[in-house]
This record gives sequence, structure tokens and C-alpha cells, in this order.
Amino acid sequence: MSANDDWTGFLDSTQAVHAGNAIDKGSGAIRTPIIMANSYALPDDPSTMSWSGTDEPLYTRNSGANQIALQKKLATLERGDDAVVLGSGVAALHAVFFTHLRSGDHVVVSDVSYEAIYRLFAELLPQKYGIEATFVDTSDLAAVRTAIRPETKLVHIEAIANPTTKVTDVAGVAAIAHEAGALVSVDSTFTPPPSFRPLEHGADLVVHSLTKYINGHGDAMGGAVIGRRELITPIKHEAMVDVGGVISPFNAWLITRGSVTLPLRLRQTFATAERVATFLAADPRVAFVAYPGLADHPQHELARAQFDGFGGMIAFALDGDPDLQNRFVAALRVVTSAVSLGHDESLIVHVGTSGPRVAFYPPEFQRLGHLRFSIGLEDADDIIADLAQALDAVS
Ligand SMILES: *Cc1c(COP(=O)(O)O)cnc(C)c1O
Repeated sequence: MSANDDWTGFLDSTQAVHAGNAIDKGSGAIRTPIIMANSYALPDDPSTMSWSGTDEPLYTRNSGANQIALQKKLATLERGDDAVVLGSGVAALHAVFFTHLRSGDHVVVSDVSYEAIYRLFAELLPQKYGIEATFVDTSDLAAVRTAIRPETKLVHIEAIANPTTKVTDVAGVAAIAHEAGALVSVDSTFTPPPSFRPLEHGADLVVHSLTKYINGHGDAMGGAVIGRRELITPIKHEAMVDVGGVISPFNAWLITRGSVTLPLRLRQTFATAERVATFLAADPRVAFVAYPGLADHPQHELARAQFDGFGGMIAFALDGDPDLQNRFVAALRVVTSAVSLGHDESLIVHVGTSGPRVAFYPPEFQRLGHLRFSIGLEDADDIIADLAQALDAVS
């Protein structure tokens, strides 16, 4: 019987299989079962218990067996003291901002960031809570330094930004932020462990949309924040227990199970993405390809130094109008047209040139729009053949 509860110190694939899993005491099952209970048995004298406690199973909005298992696993994989899991990636991001910011605080945010994050900092948090944000090209450390104010409490970045694939130097940003007494949160959804561990580069909090690579199978939503205990505990008490965007036990279980193969999946996805990006970049009908693994990517050398691999996300466009991009997507047979990313199947979405965020994108994105392409686990030869036949079909 293996009752090992501590998988720190083991290698990546071993942790991905074992961390957080526990033998079920009731049944003897060797994998943590799905426990769809809202409430857990109280001790003989519950009168002194904290109803806001999150350490022991009590009520599923505070903690439950499947949430605890997933939190333990993510903390182990990201090298954090603790983790909190919530119902979506956006819930996890909001939980960071809700807990660690207050009225009058200022935030420096990457000018290329997830749509909901842009809207939170451009409209909702300033209007409702008086939190101010400055959008900055965080790949430019001098610009980050200039944007810092005395009331700056947080710098929020994406390690590889969705959708342009811009890369930020996490250690460089952390040094600037910490000098000013600000925290650094990193949305590392595009760079899950073991490809990158922002906490080891000076970040204070790491956020993941578990919906993407960590679950990896496109069948559950979730989000997580990982970091030092003194930063995670208040997120649990305030944003989880008192705001309540919790994950369902079933989704926590699905994500725990999906993450078992995370290191294996990333290895294959990243290798395929490098081949696909190289294929697209060599075709004269393709106007541009943004992928950190290509030598002409503006932060290629930084990406090489900072990450283990270059990710599975590519942005590109054909040389032509929106109708051409649409006809190309319609001609694909292996790759599915849908939002989301990091699934087992390859996904592509044609993003146009409207909306306030596009002004922050590189000129070619502004001129042509782009196709955001999430490489899946299909055979690389089939993906490339599919792209080739679709290019031929529309030219
Ligand atoms: C998808 C995504 C999110 C939001 O996650 P949900 O699980 O959809 O709420 C946040 N950040 C990045 C980089 C994403 O790709």
C-alpha cells in the first residue's frame, strides 16, 4: 500500500500521476473517488468550529475531497505552498484582484491579455471599485518601470500572452514590482508546468485556466491560483467562501484525472506546434506566423531561456481578406473551429480586427485579423496535411 502524501522532490511525470491522490479510507479504492456531497460529517463537538474554515472537508463551498486533491496536486506541480481552485479561470483571476486589491490601488496590466481581464481592468474594476489600471507592453521592462506608481499594488502579466504570443520576462518584471512593494501575478495558462513555473522566477501568484491544458480534454471548466500560503489563505476565505465561485467536485475530479498526462501531452503538443509553425511560416500564402519558437519572434531568445519548450499556441493569418480566412477555416477537416484551447483536439478561431484590445496588437494583426490556433494531440502529419489541403482549396 502506498500512502505517500508528499510528492515534492519527485520528478514531473511522477508528480503528475500521484500528487494529491489518496487511497479512499472507506472503500479502499486507490484513486480518490468522485464525492458529490455538499456536506461532510461534523466532529462530536462542532460548536467551536470556524464555519469559514477551508482546511478540513465541511461544506463544498469551503472545501471538499476532490477540491483538496486538485489543490494539493497543483501546489506540488507549481512548487507553491498552497493552491485554491475555483469554477473557471476567470473566477480565479477575479479572486486574485478581489482579494488583494482595494479602492485607490493601481495595477499595471499587460496590454495584451485575456478578453475578460481587459474588460475587468478597463471598465468594471475602475467603475465599480475605484481601482485604476495602466495597460503596458510588459515585454518592455523600461515601460513597466515607468508605469509603476506609489499606489501600485499589483503587476499582472501573461507569460505568453493570449492571443499575440508576446512573451514577458517574469524575473525582470518581478524585480521591478518588488522594488516598488507590488505583487506579481502571472497568468500561466499558455505555459503549464513543467514547461514553466513562474513562482521560481519571482512571481507571487500563478493563475491557470484549468479549462485548458491542465484538464486537457475539453470537458470541464476550472481555475486555480497557486502561491505562498499567506497570499492563498485570504483568497480562500474571501473569494471562495464569501463570494462562492466554487468548482464542482465532478469537474475537480475530471481535471485531476486529465492532469495525470499533462507532461506527456505538453511534450507532444509543443513538438507538433514547432513543426506546424515552421510549415506555415514557409508558405508564401501565409502572411505572418506568431510563435515563440520561430527565430523571427521578437522574444524568441527570452522564450528559449525562460520556458522548457515554446508552447502549443500559434497565431497566423493568410494573406487576404476576412472571407479568405473564413473559407480556409471552413475547408479544414482535422482542425475544429471553436474557441478555447489546450484540448486534445486542435482548435482554430478566426478573430477579426474590431474591439478595443486590437489596438494593442502588432500591425499585421490589426490589418488582417488572425487565426488563433491551439495545437492538439492528433498526429502532426495529419494536422499539416489538413492545413496544406485547406490552403490549396482556397487559393
Ligand atoms: C481561457 C483563458 C482564461 C479564462 O479561463 P476560463 O476557464 O475560460 O474562465 C484566462 N486566461 C487565459 C490566458 C485563457 O486562455
